[in-house]
Amino acid sequence: MTLEWDAGRLDSELDGAGFDTLAVRAGQHRSPEAEHSEAIYPTSSYVFRSAADAAARFAGEAPGNVYSRYTNPTVRAFEERIAALEGAEQAVATSSGMAAILALVMSLCSGGDHVLVSRSVFGSTISLFEKYLKRFGVEVDYVPLADLDAWAAAFKPNTKLLFVESPSNPLAELVDIAALAEIAHSRGALLAVDNCFCTPALQQPIKLGADIVMHSATKFIDGQGRSMGGVLAGRAEQMKEVVGFLRTAGPTLSPFNAWIFLKGLETLRVRMQAHCASALQLALWLQQQPGVEQVYYAGLPSHPQHELAKRQQSAFGAVVSFEVKGGKEAAWRFIDATRVISITTNLGDTKTTIAHPATTSHGRLSPAGRANAGIRDNLIRLAVGLEDVADLQADLARGLAAL
Ligand SMILES: *Cc1c(COP(=O)(O)O)cnc(C)c1O
Repeated sequence: MTLEWDAGRLDSELDGAGFDTLAVRAGQHRSPEAEHSEAIYPTSSYVFRSAADAAARFAGEAPGNVYSRYTNPTVRAFEERIAALEGAEQAVATSSGMAAILALVMSLCSGGDHVLVSRSVFGSTISLFEKYLKRFGVEVDYVPLADLDAWAAAFKPNTKLLFVESPSNPLAELVDIAALAEIAHSRGALLAVDNCFCTPALQQPIKLGADIVMHSATKFIDGQGRSMGGVLAGRAEQMKEVVGFLRTAGPTLSPFNAWIFLKGLETLRVRMQAHCASALQLALWLQQQPGVEQVYYAGLPSHPQHELAKRQQSAFGAVVSFEVKGGKEAAWRFIDATRVISITTNLGDTKTTIAHPATTSHGRLSPAGRANAGIRDNLIRLAVGLEDVADLQADLARGLAAL
């Protein structure tokens, strides 16, 4: 791990290294005194070699840390590792996923700019745009995620940024990222992708043409539900603006959380592989159950975007949503009958979680807003963890029996 600020570059011995090698080693710089496991630097500030060194570092003329709202070696290592895994020039960490979205818009948009957001994004993302960013003159419109013609038609002369989640939560809709990037670029706009559900282990949006990738590190990057964090990755040109906002406004990542995420990244791909294998098995099983009306999972050959998912992602993710026969009461009975699975809206955890989107994550939307997002009262979202799949299936069978 380096104490010097060096703009996110990897050690040259990792040039061309594979995903797993980068996940384990990127951001850790080899030096005679290097530690084997990444160190945590719980320090607010740093000592300068001299008054002249302090002046040079403050002026940005000499490398080195100044203050942990600006840079911290542990946070820096996490940023470098994410940049390497997403194939980005630079990454910038934030205190949460929502802080990453806020930093994205605050640093790249101004009042009077127009932003296009995919219709079925994370509930707080919609609230951030609707309740706050609109108040500062940012114009926002929502577009059905999968419909490229609708995206093309939604542009205005002042459209600056497109923000999408693919696959979407909770209904696993996709957008063709490469095609959407082309549409955005032909009109002078940037494309940002919330890559929370896939992680770079399954999908690398920048390699598909997106400009910026955003993560809630709280989810699969941590992987065990211990800490909050977020990150943006992209070209140095845009990340410089993001860094400027974060240094000034302050929603930076704590070194302790950065260290947890570094450790999380080391096992990311093997965890995702196991999550996806169990999710596919459960989706196939749920699809055959008489109490289940519809299963939403892009790994199912019946999913309308299965071919796109195969092209764009290396696997189909851990989130399986399904509608049961009946309404809200039936969905609640199903959820309450489970004994192993945690009833919580978190996802991206070793522990499988189950939730009722209409009354939790999407509960703040109006009924019309929910209908618009396709969230019905009989919808249940399952985020498959790492328990034995037979035990999860038995638990879901308890839910079905309660219908
Ligand atoms: C959780 C989540 C967020 C917000 O991240 P926080 O770390 O909770 O602030 C944004 N997008 C998606 C898809 C999420 O699942």
